[in-house]
Amino acid sequence: MTESAFRIGLVLPDILGTYSDGGNAKVLRRRLEWRGITASVAEIRHGEPVPSALDLYLLGGGEDKAQALAATHLRAHPGMQRAVVRGAVVFGVCAGLQVLGTAFTTSHDVNHPGLGLLDAVTSPGPRRAVGEIVVDVGPELGGQPLTGFENHLGRTRVGPGSLPLGSVRGGIGNGDGTEGAVAGRVLATYLHGPVLARNPVLADLLLEWVLGTPPAALPLPEVDALREERMRAAKHDPRR
Ligand code: GLN
Repeated sequence: MTESAFRIGLVLPDILGTYSDGGNAKVLRRRLEWRGITASVAEIRHGEPVPSALDLYLLGGGEDKAQALAATHLRAHPGMQRAVVRGAVVFGVCAGLQVLGTAFTTSHDVNHPGLGLLDAVTSPGPRRAVGEIVVDVGPELGGQPLTGFENHLGRTRVGPGSLPLGSVRGGIGNGDGTEGAVAGRVLATYLHGPVLARNPVLADLLLEWVLGTPPAALPLPEVDALREERMRAAKHDPRR
């Protein structure tokens, strides 16, 4: 890749981005820079058109009203959906996951159409899922257990057109023992953290999907220490 060749889109950080989810863009850019690849991060705000020429799109979490607004905006400006058709990568967190699905129902029983990039339908669960979560993922998705923090009311049913991202070891996730959803290069999860700071293998998987080859290994003891510490925290979370 040439300089500045890697284009990241941070989608609607002004309304989707609870728990520092915007940090996922910083993590990806830094991991690219450490490998000598320059990346740009374009912030696409509410009211602005969504470019279709980016390599990787990031959506964060948000309140019900914010995510309904986001879904309406992204349906009206389908640049990201067009980019997916030509192979762009999309990564969504929490409300981002729900918006990427086919439909979601918010807490006052209001139904909203999603973007249909994932075969996933979300409706309110019996209580909010709040706390540390650990998810086991298969080798095709990096095989490294994911750690994160979840806070959502919605429960998500993944249909035959997508696969769950993994299975819940501790926590709630989709609500049926599975967590997240993936279809092609569109991947989403309930995990905040920011999740890509806590799970470098997942961060590199997203980069690999764009680069076409696994990025060089990055031995980072402080990232490993953070993972260990969060794994211990999840084990001892009294709410689990
Ligand atoms: N509003 C959604 C829910 O509660 C998503 C929350 C979030 O993104 N943290 O299910």
